[in-house]
Amino acid sequence: MNQPEQTDAIIDSRSIHHRMEAFELRVDPVRVREILAKALELKGLDSEDVEALIAVSAPDLLEELFLTAKSVKESIYGPRIVLFAPLYISNLCKNNCLYCGFRAENREIRRRALSQEEIASEVKILVEQGHKRILMVAGEGYAGEGFSYILKSIETVYKTRSGRGEIRRVNVNLAPLSIDEFRDLKAAGIGTYQVFQETYHPETYSIMHPTGRKHDYAWRFGAVERAMEAGIDDVGMGVLLGLYDWRFEILALLRHVEHLDAVFGVGPHTISVPRLEPTVGSRVASNPPHPVSDSDFLKIIAILRMAVPYTGIIMSTREDADTRRSTLALGVSQISAGSRTNPGGYADGVQNRGAQFELGDHRPLDEVVGDLARLGYIPSFCTACYRLGRTGQDFMAVAKPGAIKFRCDPNALSTFLEYLIDYALPETGLAGEKLIEAQLDRMEEHPRARASRMLDRVRAGERDVYV
Ligand code: SAM
Ligand code: SF4
Repeated sequence: MNQPEQTDAIIDSRSIHHRMEAFELRVDPVRVREILAKALELKGLDSEDVEALIAVSAPDLLEELFLTAKSVKESIYGPRIVLFAPLYISNLCKNNCLYCGFRAENREIRRRALSQEEIASEVKILVEQGHKRILMVAGEGYAGEGFSYILKSIETVYKTRSGRGEIRRVNVNLAPLSIDEFRDLKAAGIGTYQVFQETYHPETYSIMHPTGRKHDYAWRFGAVERAMEAGIDDVGMGVLLGLYDWRFEILALLRHVEHLDAVFGVGPHTISVPRLEPTVGSRVASNPPHPVSDSDFLKIIAILRMAVPYTGIIMSTREDADTRRSTLALGVSQISAGSRTNPGGYADGVQNRGAQFELGDHRPLDEVVGDLARLGYIPSFCTACYRLGRTGQDFMAVAKPGAIKFRCDPNALSTFLEYLIDYALPETGLAGEKLIEAQLDRMEEHPRARASRMLDRVRAGERDVYV
C-alpha cells in the first residue's frame, strides 16, 4: 500500500460515517453506565465505548459522564496543572490554510522571523515571569537558513538565562518533517513534538489546505510516526475543532492514537483541543463551518480524559478564563498562560496584527497562578520526566497513580515553591503558601516526607530540585 492508501485504511472515514449514523439512535443508559464504570478502572476506552458516550445528551446521564471524568482526572493527575507559554518565532508561511492568520496569501499581517537576539529577549521575558517550559511555534517557511533556523532557535532558548531562571523544556509545534530532520530535532533536545491533523476528514482537509506542502494529508498524518521512528518518544496530537463534525474528528483521532499505540507500544504524550478562533484575513476562522458549542467542548474533554487517561490534555489561551476553569476538573492537565501569538509579542507587550489568532484569556501568568491556587490546583513547573529520560513507554510506566504520588506531587510542590519565592506577587505568594501547607496535610506519609525535604532545599536557596 502507498502512503495515502495506508492512511485511508487506518482512519476509514466511510466506516466512521456509517457508524455515526447508527449510534445516535441507540443511547442505552445501562450500557453507558457500564462504560463509565470501565473508565474508572483507568485502562482507557475502545472506540465503541466512545461512540456510546458521544451520543449521550440527557442531562442526568451527561452529569454522570462528567462526574466520572472528574474522578479519572483526580485519580491520575490529582490537583496538579502544568504551565507553559507559547513562543512564536516566525509567522512566515508558504501554506494557505484558510483558517490561519499566517497563511501566505494574507496581506493583512506584518511578517516577521525573529533573529536569535530577539528570541533571547523573548525568552528572558518569559523566564522573568517564572516560566520553565515553552512551546516553540512557527509557520512553515524558514526563510534563508531553512530548517537549521529552528535548530539554532532551540539552542538559543536553552542557553538563555535570566537571574536564577532558565527554560528547562522546549516543546515544539512545527510542520511535518522528514525522519532525518526529526533526528536533528531530537538531538537539539526537544521535549514533545506536536502536530495537529487539523481535520481527519479528507474532503474538508483538501478544501482547507488548498496549496503548499500542507495540502498533502498523508504527509501530515505520517508526521507523528516519522517523529517516533526518529526517536522522539513524546508526540502531541490534536484536531482543530470547528472545521468538521467534532464527533467524526474525535473518533478518527482515537483511531490514529490506537494505530500509534499498536506500532510503537505507546500513544501520544499529549492531545490538544484547539477551537477555531477569529483572525484577521480569514472568513473561515470567524465563521467555523462546524462550530463546537461550549457544552460539546466540555463533553469532548471529558470523553478524551476517560478514553486515554494517561495522555495529557492541553488547553491554550484561545479559550476564555471561565471555559478554561471548567475544563480543568474534567480532564485538562496542561495550560498555557500569559500568551502572545505574534512573533516578538512578549517584547512588544501587545498581541498585534502579526498574530495567528485572537486570544480568549489575556491574564498574565501570575494572575493565572493565583487563580489556580485559590481554586485548589497546584500550578506545576515540573520538567523532571523528560530530563530524567522518562519519555514514551518509560513515562507510561511511571504514570500510574501510586508512582505519580511519589514523584509528580513532590515535583509540582517544589517547582511551585520556586515560583512563589522567585516571581510571585505578594498576594499570589500567600495563596500559594497556604495551598502548599494544605496539600502536604493531604499527602500520604512517604510522599509527604519526600516533598517536605525537597521544599526545605528550595527554601534554603537550591533551585531545580526534582526526583
Ligand atoms: N505551521 C505549523 C502547522 O501548521 O503545523 C505549526 C504551527 S501552527 C502556527 C499551530 C496550530 O495553530 C495549527 O496546527 C492550527 O491547529 C492552529 N490554528 C491555526 N489557525 C487557528 C485559528 N484561527 N484558531 C485557532 N487555532 C488555529
Ligand atoms: Fe502556516 Fe501552520 Fe498557519 Fe497553516 S496553520 S498557514 S501551515 S502557520
